[in-house]
Amino acid sequence: MLNIVLFGPPGAGKGTQSAKLIEQFGLVHLSTGDIFRANIKGETELGKLAKSYIDQGKLVPDEVTIAMLESEVNKSDSPKGFIFDGFPRTQAQAQALDTFLSSKGTTISLMLALEVEEDELKKRLLLRGKDSGRADDQDPAIIQKRIDVYQAETMPVKTYYTQQGKYKGINGLGEIDEIFNALCQAIEEVTGK
Ligand code: AMP
Repeated sequence: MLNIVLFGPPGAGKGTQSAKLIEQFGLVHLSTGDIFRANIKGETELGKLAKSYIDQGKLVPDEVTIAMLESEVNKSDSPKGFIFDGFPRTQAQAQALDTFLSSKGTTISLMLALEVEEDELKKRLLLRGKDSGRADDQDPAIIQKRIDVYQAETMPVKTYYTQQGKYKGINGLGEIDEIFNALCQAIEEVTGK
């Protein structure tokens, strides 16, 4: 299996690139942010809980997020592999994912990190907020909070995968196709194609 963690701060382009990568490599896309938003729309209990954190720019608790992710993986019938988008976002999530995948006889192949500087992220998120209708993309204070949470809680995940020799940074500035090609090249280095 080819299991990729697509990593990067909010607004780095993870969603855009995931859509292209799943097509190219035949992978299943799992975005925890998308799953939470679908639950909010469906007014489920999970959605109500997630909304109270998302609206403040905070992370949804690990326990809830990990259980949801594992259940989504279990729903997929013999996939070629997964793109984990927006997960893991804490070291505890990364450890839980390793344990879970190893129980299924597989592992993370590679972490691809889209690198974009903070000023550019803020610009992109505010622009996206105009079209997406996402409340968390429309308020500069919430955007700042999400970037701060990323620095404090999510950056350690980079160290986690670096220690496993699985981290690969990709410049997230430039044309969408240019970035996509760099991601494909990094994946092909791992798969040997
Ligand atoms: P995203 O669409 O990835 O930007 O996620 C939107 C929001 O959903 C985040 O700001 C968090 O509140 C929540 N969220 C998404 N993924 C996770 C995760 N792996 N752990 C905790 N909270 C998450």
